[in-house]
Amino acid sequence: MKVGVIGGGQLGRMLALAGTPLGMEFSFLDPAPDACAAPVGRHLCAAYDARAELQELAETMDVVTFEFENVPSEAVAYLAQHVPVFPNAESLRIARDRLCEKTMFCELDIPVTAFANIESQQQLEQAVTEVGLPAILKTRTMGYDGKGQKVLRSMDDVVGAHAALGGVPCLLEAFVDFAGEVSVIAVRGHSGEVVCYPLAHNTHEGGVLVLSVASENHPLQTLAEDYARRVLEHLDYVGALGFEFFEVDGGLMANEIAPRVHNSGHWTIEGAECSQFENHLRAIAGLPLGSTSLIGYSAMVNCIGRMPANAQLMSLKDTHVHHYGKVEKPGRKVGHVTLRSSGTGQLQQAVAAVQALVSKQ
Ligand code: AMP
Repeated sequence: MKVGVIGGGQLGRMLALAGTPLGMEFSFLDPAPDACAAPVGRHLCAAYDARAELQELAETMDVVTFEFENVPSEAVAYLAQHVPVFPNAESLRIARDRLCEKTMFCELDIPVTAFANIESQQQLEQAVTEVGLPAILKTRTMGYDGKGQKVLRSMDDVVGAHAALGGVPCLLEAFVDFAGEVSVIAVRGHSGEVVCYPLAHNTHEGGVLVLSVASENHPLQTLAEDYARRVLEHLDYVGALGFEFFEVDGGLMANEIAPRVHNSGHWTIEGAECSQFENHLRAIAGLPLGSTSLIGYSAMVNCIGRMPANAQLMSLKDTHVHHYGKVEKPGRKVGHVTLRSSGTGQLQQAVAAVQALVSKQ
C-alpha cells in the first residue's frame, strides 16, 4: 500500500518506521529540503499547495494522511476528490482553528474554559472584562509548542497584546488553574471501531511538552474516552487523534485536539502492544486496530535542542532512544527517549536519570 503523508517531520518519520514492516511505502510532501522523514520514504520537496506534487500524490497513492494540520484547505479538497484522505477535511478544518475547536467542544457538552473570539484590540479590551484575568491570548491558527500565545496577567499586559500576536484572529482563554494535564490518544477505524490508549500525564515547560508518563487505571480514563468518542463520532473521524485535557476539580476540561499522532503518545512505541503510529496506519488502511494495552510502565522524555550521547543514554536502564535526524537547534524537538520499566519506582528513577542528562545539554 502506498501512503502519502502531508508533512515530513518526525511524526511522518515515525509513521514510516511503523508502517514499513507492514509492507507500506511512504511519500512525504514537505517544503523543507532537510525534512527528517526523507530518509525513510520518498520526499516531494514542494509547497503544501504545489499543484504538480498534489496531483502526483492524488494519482499514485492508495491513501493520504497528515502529520501536520496547517495545510491549505484547497489542497486537502483537491486530494480528497481523487484519493481517500484520512482524517477528513472537516476534522482538519476544526482542529486547526481554536475557535472552531472550542465551539465544537461546547456543542458536544465537553467542558472548556471561558473563551472569546478576538479580531481587534478593542474587542480584546471588552472581552477581558467578561473572561477575566489572568487569561491567555492565542492565535486561532498556526500556534504550536506555546508559540503564538501571550499570557495576560494585568491590564498592562493587555495594552498592545493583539498587535504583539500580529493582529491576526485570536482566541482569549481564561487561565485554568489546573491540578494536572493529561491526554488520551484515541483511534477510530473505517468501521467506526474506537480504541483508546491509557491516559498520559503530561508536563509542559514554556508551553512545550517535556515529559509524558503513561498511567495505569487512571480515575479519569473513562471520562476522557467518553469525550474522545463524542469528537470522533461527530467528525466521522478515521485515524489517531490526540486529545489534551486539564484536570480540574476532579474532572476534565478540554484544552485541544490534534488530528494526527501526538507527541504525548510517543511512549506507545515501546510501551503499548501496538503503537499509536501503527494504529493510525491500520485505521487509515481499513485494517483491524491493534491492542492499546500497556507493556510494563512507560514514560517519554523529550530531547529539546540537543540529544544526549547514545552511550550515556544507553548506559542507563530501561531506555529506548529515538533520534529524529534533525539539525540540533535551541528549542527544537530533536528526539525522545522512551522509558519502559517493570515497576513504578524503577520508572521514576529511569525518568530522573534521563532528565538529568537531557537538562545538562
Ligand atoms: P496549547 O498550545 O494551547 O496546548 O498550550 C500549551 C500549554 O500551555 C498547555 O499544555 C498548558 O500547559 C498551557 N496552557 C494553555 N492554555 C492554558 C489555559 N487556558 N490555562 C492555563 N494554562 C494553559
